[in-house]
Amino acid sequence: MITIHAIGGYSQIGKNMTAVQWKDEIVILDCGFWMEKVISFENGSASELELSELYRLGIVADDKEFRRKYGNMVKAIIPSHAHLDHVGAIPAMASNYRGAPVIGTPFTIEVLNSLMKDKGKKIKNKLVKLNAGSSYQVSKNILVEFVYATHSTLQTVMIALHTPDGIVLYANDWKFDEYPSLGRRTDYDALRKLTPVKVLISDTTRIGRESKTHSESIVKDMLRDVLLWTENKENLVLITTYASHIARVNMIVDFAHEMKRQPLVLGRSLANYIDAAENCGLVDISGKAKVCGWKHQIVKELKRAMKNRGNYLLIVTGNQGEPNAVLSRMATHEFPFEFRKDDQVIFCSEVIPAPINMANRAYIEKNLKNQSVRIFKDIHVSGHASREDHRDLINILKPKHYVPTHGGINKIAKAVELAMEMGYDLGKNVHILQDGQKLEIK
Ligand SMILES: [Zn+2]
Repeated sequence: MITIHAIGGYSQIGKNMTAVQWKDEIVILDCGFWMEKVISFENGSASELELSELYRLGIVADDKEFRRKYGNMVKAIIPSHAHLDHVGAIPAMASNYRGAPVIGTPFTIEVLNSLMKDKGKKIKNKLVKLNAGSSYQVSKNILVEFVYATHSTLQTVMIALHTPDGIVLYANDWKFDEYPSLGRRTDYDALRKLTPVKVLISDTTRIGRESKTHSESIVKDMLRDVLLWTENKENLVLITTYASHIARVNMIVDFAHEMKRQPLVLGRSLANYIDAAENCGLVDISGKAKVCGWKHQIVKELKRAMKNRGNYLLIVTGNQGEPNAVLSRMATHEFPFEFRKDDQVIFCSEVIPAPINMANRAYIEKNLKNQSVRIFKDIHVSGHASREDHRDLINILKPKHYVPTHGGINKIAKAVELAMEMGYDLGKNVHILQDGQKLEIK
């Protein structure tokens, strides 16, 4: 019998944490933050909080009951990729599962290392780097296989747990991108070889979109239009995007050189993710751009950029309008910087639809407009699968059971609707779980 413990990520988009049990062997998949709460309460500095505070603020999944009953059976903690809603809670929570190694792709482990280095924290658990396409025996009866998947950060994997009762495939954040700007396509061959898949646990973030999610290469075309074909020769050009989206940052740096501008990458989290990617030999951004993570460096470079606006392309943190990020500090003059009429600010992102983000973004956009800045929004495609991608994944795997995750009840209901359309029965082989519930599959 396989038991799925829904610890977090089933009642909201965030604090992902699922445990899969076979007899007395358990593997925890993901251990992340609820980003909406991180931004609301702590302006992004949640990594410094004690665990009791993280529980109180609802930033991490409530695993107390699970840990009390099953904690000593946990054989490994396995994050699927390096986004904070999947790995953010590991520095605070992993040491409660003593003896369980944290197993991730090299980039994911490097990001974890940089999170801890930055905050002066250390976890006692052993860190194990496992490449996509490789397997690892975590316990007597559970073998872990990493299947490469495209997403919006590097070295994302779908996690296949091979148990004596079949395979559990955990696909929490993925898309099918046939033309990724860095890295390869999702490993379809490996997916087709997974048989029999007993349970599919899959991300529902974007399942409401009746389409296929477009490729990251579309963003390249959008950026080319904006960067090369607008009147911007004398103006400052600034792009803000997700710090973890290294493929996109790399692409923007290359555009800067095409425009004969010097790329300046400014912001702590950008510097950290770049550092992690370079430690794995995945990119050489600091060889092509000036990367500054600390305030004094950022201020110095901004002063330089202000004098020769047409010579630079700035890549900065703050695409959601976060008050502590570089863009907000520039716009509000907290950093000694003045925007000029017709300077360009390009949002290479979409607003993540939480009230705090919408408020922060509205504030920053108004602020920029008051300074007569030209704004370009939504230069972005998502890293999450749409409804028709989900249909394809289910058709490839033909799982006996389907458990949608990573969404509130509305998103999960959309996934159930799709599954029922494909012949699944609610409660029989497609299941609605909420945080704190468990599902036994005989
Ligand atoms: Zn993700």
